[in-house]
Amino acid sequence: MARSVIPSWDLPALPVSGTDALFPVRRIHCVGRNYAEHAREMGGDPDREPPFFFNKPADAIVPNGGDIPYPPQTQKLAYEMELVVAIGKGGVNVPRESALEHVFGYAVGLDLTRRDLQAAAKEKGRPWEPGKAFDKSAPVSRIRPAAEIGHPRSGRIWLEVNGEVRQDGNLSQMIWPVPDIIAYLSQLYALQPGDLIYTGTPAGVGFIQRGDELRGAVDDVERISVRIV
Ligand code: MN
Repeated sequence: MARSVIPSWDLPALPVSGTDALFPVRRIHCVGRNYAEHAREMGGDPDREPPFFFNKPADAIVPNGGDIPYPPQTQKLAYEMELVVAIGKGGVNVPRESALEHVFGYAVGLDLTRRDLQAAAKEKGRPWEPGKAFDKSAPVSRIRPAAEIGHPRSGRIWLEVNGEVRQDGNLSQMIWPVPDIIAYLSQLYALQPGDLIYTGTPAGVGFIQRGDELRGAVDDVERISVRIV
C-alpha cells in the first residue's frame, strides 16, 4: 500500500463466528420503515411503497456492542433493533431470485438515531445524516455465515431495555424481505463485498438515557448487548 500523508487507519471490521478472520466493512446501507407496525408508529403508510434507503459511514460500527457514550447534540436518542445482512459478493441490478447468493451472512445491530435531529431534518427537508450517521451509531454483533445458519426468513426479533421488553417482532413481518431489499438496493448502488444492510426495525421504538442497558437478538441468528454511558 502507498504511504499516507496523514496517519492511516485500520479498516472497520467485524468478527465472524467459526473463524479468526474478520469481515471488513465497506459501507452501511439502511432500510427505512420495513415493518408495517413501525411505519404506522412513525406516522407513515405501510402499504408497499418501494423501500427507501439511507446510509451510515462504515466507521460508525461498534463491533460487539458494549459501552456506547451518549452522543452529543440530542435529547432524544432512540434504539432500533435490526437484522443486518453482510454482503459477500457484489452486483448491480441483482434479480430477487438470485439475491441471496450475494449474502455472506447475518448479524444483528442497533440503528441508533438522534430522533430530534432526524425530525428537524424531515421538517425542513434537509439531509438525515445528523440524525442517523453519527459516530458509534451502528453497534453490531459478530457475523454468522449463511453457510452456518442459512437464510432466516422468520424468527423472533426483540429488544429489552433494563430487562423490560420494548420491541418484539418477527422477521416474517418485514414489508420487503431480504431478497427484495437487495434487488432494490442494487438498482441504486453497485453492491460491494463488505457492505452491510440494516433491514429495518419492528414496532416499539423509544428513547434511551445514560445508564440504560439494552439486550436484543434475532433468535437463531445472534444477540447483542449495549450500555449507554
Ligand atoms: Mn432503522
